[in-house]
Amino acid sequence: MGVKSDDQNKNPKKPFLYYYGLVLLIVFLLNAFLFPSMMERSVKEVGYNQFLEYVEAKQVDKVYRNDKELMFTLKEEVKPEWGVTAYKTGNWPDPQLTERLTEAGVTSFSEEIVTEASPLMVILFQWIVPIVLFVVIGQVMGRMMQKKLGNMGGPSMSFGKSNAKIYAETETGKTFEDVAGEEEAKEALKEIVDFLHNPEKYAQIGATLPKGALLVGPPGTGKTLLAKAVAGEAHVPFFSISGSEFVEMFVGMGAAKVRDLFKQANEKAPCIVFIDEIDTIGKKRDGGGIGGNDEREQTLNQLLTEMDGFDGKKGVVILAATNRPESLDPALLRPGRFDRRVPVELPDLKGREAILRVHGKDVKLEDSVNFNAVARATAGASGAELANIVNEAALRAVRLGRSTVSQSDLEESVEVVVAGYQRKNAAVSEKERRIVAYHEIGHALVAACQSQSAPVHKITIIPRTSGALGYTMQVEAGERFLMSKEEALNKIATFTGGRAAEEFMFHSITTGASNDIEQATKIARAMVTRYGMSDQFGMVALETVNNQYLGGDSSMVCSPETAKAVDDEVIAIVKGQYEKAMEILKSHAAKLTELSEYLLERETITGEEFMDILNR
Ligand code: ADP
Ligand code: MG
Ligand code: ZN
Repeated sequence: MGVKSDDQNKNPKKPFLYYYGLVLLIVFLLNAFLFPSMMERSVKEVGYNQFLEYVEAKQVDKVYRNDKELMFTLKEEVKPEWGVTAYKTGNWPDPQLTERLTEAGVTSFSEEIVTEASPLMVILFQWIVPIVLFVVIGQVMGRMMQKKLGNMGGPSMSFGKSNAKIYAETETGKTFEDVAGEEEAKEALKEIVDFLHNPEKYAQIGATLPKGALLVGPPGTGKTLLAKAVAGEAHVPFFSISGSEFVEMFVGMGAAKVRDLFKQANEKAPCIVFIDEIDTIGKKRDGGGIGGNDEREQTLNQLLTEMDGFDGKKGVVILAATNRPESLDPALLRPGRFDRRVPVELPDLKGREAILRVHGKDVKLEDSVNFNAVARATAGASGAELANIVNEAALRAVRLGRSTVSQSDLEESVEVVVAGYQRKNAAVSEKERRIVAYHEIGHALVAACQSQSAPVHKITIIPRTSGALGYTMQVEAGERFLMSKEEALNKIATFTGGRAAEEFMFHSITTGASNDIEQATKIARAMVTRYGMSDQFGMVALETVNNQYLGGDSSMVCSPETAKAVDDEVIAIVKGQYEKAMEILKSHAAKLTELSEYLLERETITGEEFMDILNR
């Protein structure tokens, strides 16, 4: 069953409903305020002398007199002023009036003078004419607007049944310049843009471009941004619609929207159609299910049909984005549909630096800012997270009353994004702080005393809003793509170092190591089940990863007996590394104490300070 949202059941007639409502209101206001005064004006007030002059000149036709006033009309041939049907004047006590009037040939005294038009005319003029006028104007305007929008590709008021927005080139305001890193993705998309600019070049050599390209990658890596940049570069109409907008309350509506979208696209070719989050409609169709996903399947079927139906040479290119490519229906991915896959991966070191630079342009930076250092400290961060880090840094600078962003702002905001804000006034007892200090130095010491381990960058025991009471930051010097078995084991040892230090120094253990335990177990399990790093199982995959871009949760694919053996192996690995960590700490007991006391005093120490003391 589809989920209904406000946006989706938008009726194309709706703007007109609003419009008619507005018209009625205007007509009503006119009737209430303007017309009465106009009616009033058709009876003109004149002085009594003026009236007498008219009488003298024998121009008066009829006269009507009551207690308050005296009304009169002029004869046809006199031509009264434009729009004036009658005159009135004060009813002066004039004894000679009757005489004068008789003299002037006025016979009618008492017959009431009708100044108002007939009721039929009133209705006609006050209601029907204005409304008809408004309706006509409205319709003409609506038609003009649509024509204009069609030509220049501006945002639409109504596009039949699909809500696809057309982005004008200037509207997204994004170009490939705004997308940092992701060079391969940009290259692939540039080709598409180029094709739309000069299709002849491709036709000459007989090349046809793929009808569709699918942007795949983890969330926040800039897929939507890339599509907007394509719109900015393309100079052709750009239809953008999100997959969820096809999901409708009623069966068949989504399919109708797809049909409509492609109809419009065909009319506007060459153009680009962008379907964001296509997995919402493109999920694998499953055989079973009672009435289950009729609507979604119909929509998907319609999409498949449409993609086959149109002529690729005409210049309609379909882009789509998703972070769950494995859940897409295989039919979508076959040649002739989304046969080109454009990976939009998490940025590497250079990419991260470039992204920081792009977003750094929007804020005032101190000259000393070193983006490379920040990029190195943010391995695994997505473009969206990096944009957030720059913004957090700017916010921090404002909070501290500075007008430029400094390196320390950036470094602090990296930690904010990783671990949450500092909780300066968290009440941590002296005893607990001591435990945390030894725990952290335990991590750092084990890391530093192993050869294949990333250098320690920073150690802190300032509590964070994420719940961490302290942490040790390690930063690789360069970008790493591979991890050796040795390094994996060292990582596990480093994770266990905290708990080992607690046990070694205080002979008791705390809950502070829960996150370390989780991480160590994860690595150990992956070593056994996915990396083929255990002697017992060798190169056998015992697990499959389900959502590689969304957290990467995995499920076992082995017999229960093997699962048991895997567990044993994982336990053995972690235990072995714990013992190794303990050995390291025991042989550096003096340093452990010295460093921990130093950290307790300072709260935060840098990697250099740490290494200085260690090597003294
Ligand atoms: P996705 O659609 O892949 O989930 P978005 O395109 O919505 O991610 O990216 C969110 C934001 O992150 C963008 O608006 C942009 O500010 C920032 N961003 C992501 N990737 C990049 C990049 N490669 N270069 C610059 N900014 C980026
Ligand atoms: Mg997106
Ligand atoms: Zn720890």
